Amino acid sequence: MSRTPRSTSARFGATRSGRTQKDFELTTFNDFGLAEPILRALTEEKYVTPTPIQEQTIPLLLAKRDVIGIAQTGTGKTAAFALPILNALSVNRPRPQPKTCRVLVLSPTRELSGQILDSFRAYGRHLRIQTTLAIGGVNMGPQVRALAHGVDVLVATPGRLLDLLQSHALRLSDVEMFVLDEADRMLDMGFIRDIRKIVAKLPKERQTLLFSATMPQDIAELARHMLKDPAKVSVTPQSTTVERIAQQIIHVDRAHKPQMLTDILRKETVDRVLVFTRTKHGADKVVRGLNKDGISAEAIHGNKSQNQRERVLKDFRSGRIRTLVATDIAARGIDVEGISHVVNFDLPNIPESYVHRIGRTARAGADGIAISLCSHDELPFLRDIEKLIRMAIPASGQSTRQPARPAQPNNGRGGEQRNGQSRNEHARGGNRHERGGGGGQRNGGPKRGNERGEHQAQERAPDRGGARHPAPASNQGPRPVASTQPIGDFSKVTFMQPR
Ligand code: AMP
Repeated sequence: MSRTPRSTSARFGATRSGRTQKDFELTTFNDFGLAEPILRALTEEKYVTPTPIQEQTIPLLLAKRDVIGIAQTGTGKTAAFALPILNALSVNRPRPQPKTCRVLVLSPTRELSGQILDSFRAYGRHLRIQTTLAIGGVNMGPQVRALAHGVDVLVATPGRLLDLLQSHALRLSDVEMFVLDEADRMLDMGFIRDIRKIVAKLPKERQTLLFSATMPQDIAELARHMLKDPAKVSVTPQSTTVERIAQQIIHVDRAHKPQMLTDILRKETVDRVLVFTRTKHGADKVVRGLNKDGISAEAIHGNKSQNQRERVLKDFRSGRIRTLVATDIAARGIDVEGISHVVNFDLPNIPESYVHRIGRTARAGADGIAISLCSHDELPFLRDIEKLIRMAIPASGQSTRQPARPAQPNNGRGGEQRNGQSRNEHARGGNRHERGGGGGQRNGGPKRGNERGEHQAQERAPDRGGARHPAPASNQGPRPVASTQPIGDFSKVTFMQPR
């Protein structure tokens, strides 16, 4: 697998305007006029060129504008907001009042929150800035103590933040800058009411930033209430990265999936593999099966304690564990380089999750391989995924690029873009449409009903506990047999660029 270095725009996406890194050749971090201690930290981090989202966002934030950023994890969006925030803090330095923060960053998961905090600490290492983390799953005492004297930057998940507000360990009256990160995922995870409660407690005079991978109607609505005359910046999602992923489907009986997974992990030259299951229980079961077959693996999901999750991630990063089994939500925001393979042990019932999942590989200029095990009852999910990505994923043994299957008749979700919506927006719009229509059965597949609701039920926000979701009902019809084809023929695919 080649590991060719790529330009910053190839790695981090290009601007929607179609401009590429070449158009930005003259821009360096020095051109933004950031404070010297920040520039020094960036040099130490070996950041040379701003990514497209940084290129667009940093000047706007330095000019005190509110900003909506459409960008996914992996585009460099954290530095896009952290650098101008740190700059503002370095210029204007009143001591934070007890039990207050000057900057509040809300993120949906503990992992992502931890990574954001690490970024603030790395870029702000030469500034004397107090930062703290407020996440669920750990004792609140140390967080209360950390906030007692006031902090500059607080990175928090919504549930724990509300707990801290309720117990009067914190007030939000002094927030000067507010960041809502991964807003679409926040809404998917059912945080909308929490966010509204938190926003109501913020001062009216503030600078607000909202980042989201997609901009469905409900996020646009939220943004209208939260931001003042926002500038909108966007970079294309990781399509340039996704193009480099070789994908394959293996049709296999559900009962044969564990054996198939073991075979894959034995046959493939795996550097680091992320295995996805739909449920937490499923993740634990897969780990037990692999361990029994002599393959060391660990699970990461919302039922694990924060310490366990941190230890597992550290071991995965260091290479001590090569196989990590995760649920969608737990994997969100995990930024681990060098994942050579993603294996979908279960296909996701939300097609967008497939794109998020396989985007975990092929990061930072590396190629990646995504293998999906598809049982008979998951065929409708496969159909939805193929409609979203507008191509047929080659099945095991097929080595040539497959033409996209003709679009299915529109059934409320549709496969084509309409009304200028992006694919993602469209898929979400389809969900709403379907929900409104009573969750009708489509394509003879299992009834999905409220997919977002189900998704939430599978694994709710890690700091809020969660419930499991029953497997979809099996379909009638011929069963595909377990594939015995050798793995290794992967077709490169090209994702359509959202318009
Ligand atoms: P993010 O999208 O914020 O999760 O960032 C993805 C990765 O890109 C992180 O590992 C960052 O450390 C890295 N990164 C962010 N900005 C730059 C840059 N300008 N040059 C090189 N790496 C960067």
